[in-house]
This record gives sequence, structure tokens and C-alpha cells, in this order.
Amino acid sequence: MRLHDEGGGRAKNIVDQASREMCDINMPESTRQRRLTLIVLTLAAGIALCVVQDCAFVAKTVSTGGEQPIRVPVVTKAKAPPNEGPRVIVFCLDGAGYPQLMQAIRSGNAPHIAALLGKEQGNGLFEHGYSAPGVLSVLPSSTVADWSAVFTGTPPAQNGWPGDEWFDRAHQRFYAPVPITVTETDDFSAMLNDDLIGSQLKAPTLYEKLKRRSYVSMLMVYRGSTLFTTVPPTTFAGFAGSLVEGKLAGEPALEAISKTLDLASIGKLLQAIDEHGLPRLQVVYFPGIDLFTHASPDPLHAQVNYIEKYTDAGVGEVLDAYRRLGALPNTYVIFVADHGHTPTVDEARNRLGPDDPGSPFATLKAAGFRVRKASLTVSKSEEDFQAVIASQGFMAYVYLADRSTCEATGKKCDWIRPPRFHADVMRAVRALYKENQAGQPIPQAKGTIDLIFAREPAEADEEAKAFKIFDGRRLVPIRRYLRRHPRPDLADLDERMRWLGEGPYGGRAGDIVLLAKASSAIPVEDRYYFATTTHYSWHGSADMSDSNVPLILALEGGSGAAMQQIVNEVSEDVTLSEMAVTPLVLALIGRN
Ligand SMILES: [Zn+2]
Repeated sequence: MRLHDEGGGRAKNIVDQASREMCDINMPESTRQRRLTLIVLTLAAGIALCVVQDCAFVAKTVSTGGEQPIRVPVVTKAKAPPNEGPRVIVFCLDGAGYPQLMQAIRSGNAPHIAALLGKEQGNGLFEHGYSAPGVLSVLPSSTVADWSAVFTGTPPAQNGWPGDEWFDRAHQRFYAPVPITVTETDDFSAMLNDDLIGSQLKAPTLYEKLKRRSYVSMLMVYRGSTLFTTVPPTTFAGFAGSLVEGKLAGEPALEAISKTLDLASIGKLLQAIDEHGLPRLQVVYFPGIDLFTHASPDPLHAQVNYIEKYTDAGVGEVLDAYRRLGALPNTYVIFVADHGHTPTVDEARNRLGPDDPGSPFATLKAAGFRVRKASLTVSKSEEDFQAVIASQGFMAYVYLADRSTCEATGKKCDWIRPPRFHADVMRAVRALYKENQAGQPIPQAKGTIDLIFAREPAEADEEAKAFKIFDGRRLVPIRRYLRRHPRPDLADLDERMRWLGEGPYGGRAGDIVLLAKASSAIPVEDRYYFATTTHYSWHGSADMSDSNVPLILALEGGSGAAMQQIVNEVSEDVTLSEMAVTPLVLALIGRN
């Protein structure tokens, strides 16, 4: 695939070079980390999609001007009249924790969002809006699983997307649209270019249920929408330029990348509205908050500042455009996030990545399991693996084969068959538990894991069962375990683990789930994460710091009490989570 502009070519060369350098075994660890951070952030920023191999997205973006019609007939019709309504805008704030967003709104430094909401009246109520307290993400509190849940209104075990990484045992396909342990970017590219998420989502999306004109800016869940807009090529060229200048790491460069991405996507969105008219539903994704938080030494404060400085401006631009078109009084505005962040130590000793001595990769290898290489694909000679690990930051999934089908080295396992409960699953569970307790034979693995979840394997045609917790002797139902060992820091753990594991696609979360020691109640130095990259913050756990997300409904000039009533009605009898967005939008537009 060939890039169409000079900026694209330069960026490709730079990142290719960085990728090649990563393979240099003599490279100092600190340099390697910086290179990797650059690559991952760049990828996550959606710009260097051509980094390693696949330039399809960039090429298409360059050639289409960053716009992909998903359902062409609607777009090519006449412009939608501005007085058609009601409309909804959903602002998707990647990685914005509830306390951080509220702090930004109350600070007086986020004037556009604050003005929309009006005066705060207490308990989440504002003059023109309602910010529901205690709203939870699904588990894992990681990007792709959460946005899939938000835009289908269903949890992972129902919708089929369990995380940033997962393993499809039936097809032996490793998915990594947001790479956590792998470094290849093909799935990231496919996520934006080829609807990778939509291809595996088993529940209808909000756009499909809505059956109205819907535009999606940047978000990876867009199946069934009318128009998908992405950053324009000038952003790509501009970013390539900053790479050339050698500003590869450090706060100013990260800030520039995050800001450029968020604000440039707004430009593209406004252009689409100008050309095609206003949609009934506009989804606006801001990836920059998350990128910037991960990489900032004082992550939670940095996040508040970033929201004040950039997110608020982006929100203001969109609201102003609606205002100019006379559409704002009839447009409900929703703010939601996929997860928050928990501060971590940006050092290799807290990292449990594939090559780290204390990681579950090492523990399972030491216990005699042939563990699959952390890679999107493996060579023929590496296909004899008996265990697969996929990571979500603070959580990791372990998939096991029935090792009686592949005892000899070089023999491929039968992954259609479930593993044996005692000889495979519990063997691995006990090895992980023992290692975590005693640090033998690997001292670095001691005390890195908080909880080990496992379950009896289901046959290929059966629904997956609920996860239980290993207490050192046996698997105990989560609710019963928590009665004996209360964990107020882990929000609604029992129900959220059932959302992840129990249901038609619950098997996609593996046979064992590991929760790293990552509670915000313990010192930051004692927190660990399953990832290749060190960061100043991570997410993926059940801790409130990761899991408490904003869910705000507002209407310019509307009544906050009315907003509260609408939110309460759609969440009646259910735990209020980010999944409420789908029924909320359907109710607002009158499609339920
Ligand atoms: Zn995220």
C-alpha cells in the first residue's frame, strides 16, 4: 500500500525506523521503552496506522478526505433540515474519570460545558442538566470493551467484545485493536478502516436500532452509522512533521499530539455537517484525554487540566455550530466515558508484560505450559501453544487448551475442545496462586496479583458459566467470597464479572481472569499492570478510580430535573452503567 502524500511517507519512514530499532537487542531498556511508548501512542492516536505494515487506513483517509460513508443512500439525499428533531450529541471522553470531569466543570475553567449545564444544585442536578453519580463502566474498564457496551447497550458476554485484546479459540485468531501486549498494528488499522469491531459485535449497535441519520467522528464502534469521519490528512502531515523534529516523547509533544487529534477531528465533523446536514445522532470521540493521562507524571491532575484546556474547547466548537444552525435548543447533549484512570509507577518493575520476569507468561511457562508468543500471528513452528494470554491493563485473560491433545512439543492443540477442569484450568490457577503467594520459582512475581478468577470450562456449544474466585483451596462464588473478604474498593464486582463472563459470548474472556494488584487503596508503588508499555496511569480494573465514569444529560435552556427523570426512567431496576447511553438515546429520539 502506497501513501499519497509526502508527510505520510516521512512518518512511515520514521516509525519504520523506530520499529526496526526496537528489534536491536543492544538498545538500552529506557530507550526501548521510549520508542515503544512513541509507537503505541502514535498508533493509538490513529495517525501512524501505517507504522509497521498496513497503510490502508491512511491511504484511504488521504484519498477520501477522512470520510467514509457507511450507508451511502442516506448521505447522498438532500441535506437534513435544521429544525428536524429532537437530536442528540454524544461526547465520548476516552479515559475521563467522573471526579476529574466534575472537577473540571466546577473549576470555572471549562466554560462551554459549565454554561450548558448551568448552576449546580447538588446531588448531580444542574440547572439544565443531570450528572448521574456512581455510574460504572463494564469490566474490563478498557477502551474497546467499554465503547462496545456503550453503543450496543449490552455487556461483553452478550455483545461479544470482551477487551482491547482477546483470543478467539474457535478460529485461533488473536485480536488486538488496541495493542496491550502485542506490538503489531494491523488490527488497529482494521478497526478504523475495515470495521473490525463491527465484524465481531454480536449485538445490534445503537445506530442500527435508531434507524435514523447518525454520524460518528473517530469512535471505533460505528457499524450501522450513516457516516464515519476521521482526522483529515493535514493532521497526519502535521504530526509527521513533529515527528521529524524529533519531539518523540515528553509532555509538550504528547500534549500537542492529543490536542491536534481531538481538535482536528472536530474540524472534519463540522465539515461533514456543512456538506450533508445535521444528523439526528452525532457521536464525537475524543481520544486525546486518555493518551495524555497515561503519559503524564501527575495523571489525574493532568487530566483535569487537559479537559479544561482542550476538551472543553472542542465541545464548545460543536455546540456553537449547532447554535448557529438554530438546532441547539432541540438537541440533547450526553457526556460519557469508557473508563477512568488509576495512577501507576512508570517503571519496568511494575510492568508484567510478555518479556518481564514476574509476568503470568513467565509463571505459566515455569509451570510447564507452552505459552503463545505475544503477537497477532505466529509462525507454523510456534503453533503448538497450550496457553494464550490477552491483556487489558490491570486485567489479563488466560485461555487454555486440553493439553492431552498436544502433549508433545510441536503438536498443535485442539482448541475447539474445552480444557480439562483439573488437569489444565486448576493446574494453571494453582501455579499462578502459588507463585503470587511465595514467589517461587520467580521472586518478581510475588504479590503482583490481587484476585484469580476461573470457572469450569463450557463445551463449544454451551454458554459460558460465571467466574468464581480462587481462595487458595477452591473456586468460590464471587458473592460468597466477598462476604468473607469485603472489598469495597471493587465496585459491584459480582455483577460486573457476570456481565463479562456469563452469556453466549462469555467464553471470549478466557478460562482464567487475573486482576493485578492495582487498587487505589494501596500505595502507587505496589500497583502492577499487564502490558508491554510502562505508564503513569493504567486502567482495566474494578476499582472505582478506573470504573466510575461520567454520564451527563443536558439540554440548553432545559430543566435539570427533567433530565434527571429521563435518566432515571431508562435505568430503572438496573445498575446505572455506561450501557444506559443506548436506551437513553433511543428514548430521547423516540425510538424505544
Ligand atoms: Zn479508553
